[in-house]
Amino acid sequence: MEQTDPRRLIPRTDRLLALPAVDAARDRLSETVLLGLVREVQDRARRGELAPDQVAETVEAAVRSRTAARLQPVLNATGVVVHTNLGRAPLGPAAVDAVLAATGYVDVELDLTTGVRSRRGAGVRAALLAACPGAEDALVVNNGAAALVLATTALAAGREVVISRGELVEIGAGFRLPDLIASTGARLREVGTTNRTHLRDYADAVGPDTGCILKVHPSNFRVEGFTAGTPLDELAALAAERGVPLVADIGSGLLRPDPALPDEPDAATTLAAGADLVTASGDKLLGGPQAGLLLGTADLITRLSRHPLARAVRADKLTLAALEATVAGGEAPVTRYRHADPARLRARTEQIAAALGALVVPHDGRVGGGGAPGVPLPGWAVRLDEAAAVALRTGRPAVLPRVHDGACLLDLRCIPEADDGRLLDAVRAALATLPGATLPDAALPGADR
Ligand SMILES: *Cc1c(COP(=O)(O)O)cnc(C)c1O
Repeated sequence: MEQTDPRRLIPRTDRLLALPAVDAARDRLSETVLLGLVREVQDRARRGELAPDQVAETVEAAVRSRTAARLQPVLNATGVVVHTNLGRAPLGPAAVDAVLAATGYVDVELDLTTGVRSRRGAGVRAALLAACPGAEDALVVNNGAAALVLATTALAAGREVVISRGELVEIGAGFRLPDLIASTGARLREVGTTNRTHLRDYADAVGPDTGCILKVHPSNFRVEGFTAGTPLDELAALAAERGVPLVADIGSGLLRPDPALPDEPDAATTLAAGADLVTASGDKLLGGPQAGLLLGTADLITRLSRHPLARAVRADKLTLAALEATVAGGEAPVTRYRHADPARLRARTEQIAAALGALVVPHDGRVGGGGAPGVPLPGWAVRLDEAAAVALRTGRPAVLPRVHDGACLLDLRCIPEADDGRLLDAVRAALATLPGATLPDAALPGADR
């Protein structure tokens, strides 16, 4: 008897593309994506991984779970507040609302009263100046690196940037400040040594070729022991006397001092000490979207905003909306997580651990994003077997734990309390996929499940 090749029974592409679930997805997924999903399932059937009669339902399931953008929400259980690989700062509710409102046509560059074109980003500028009255003017660009590039290009291209050797740092993987500055066509005039730079070192270097003096917060890098830096106010006096601008890259974007982070510079204090221009990131300790902030004298901000490069690094309307709402809105999530109440954190951790039959161990969170490297954020973690980590990361929702010393640790610091139930469900689902898993079935007290 002749046997039909089962591959001949695999439904044809046009039939699969006409399935009701596929048709229903046409307003949210492109024809290319739908076709790709169909072909993927057909290929699996050809390889014998699926029976031909499972193809249609598998296509339907694949189409239902596919979103147009594949970025996946992650529950951050690492205890690292500004987590670079997770997109740094999560936006707060005010910023989320502002982004949604800005998705359509908005008056980002239009005065609705007069009907004529207006200054782009006037709202965020006003919010920044209100939050940081020491600045005469402000400009928002794409990120902190762009802010620094714009400043050094506009002030020092073809001239010298005077900078301490102790501040020639690499900030993220492969991101070296000296290389970035050199790429603008400015020359680095290095002064002092790695551990000590004195006012006279700057004074000797500043001359007719100086475009600006640059002070960089070394962020994730600390020199200890026999060290000396030059106080900013002394440097500012020198800069003023010689008539050169003093630019300070503070990195983290704190607008005002935070007593919990005494070593982190902030914009208000830096401007009060006499810096002419401050550059910073919007998505580190400020807790907003990826953005670069420039705050300083009216004269310098005008020079920078008129430079041709300003157009190449300008922020889009979604960023402007999110940043304004972050500055003018309630406490940003990164600030809340940094200051999380230890007693509350412990109680939540114990509840989740009890529901899982797991242990609670002390665990220090971190600020992250290159900020406050030596500052631990004491807390607790649920301790699981290391083997759980992969299943947690690949589950839905994805959970990113900290893997350390042969354990998989869940730190609740950066998980909104309202998500504790989702976290527990995700952990249960992940643990259930492990061989030999047995789990207590306790629910969180008060949880509606
Ligand atoms: C993070 C950082 C930057 C770069 O900012 P991005 O927003 O990541 O582009 C520049 N300088 C310092 C001191 C930083 O800490």
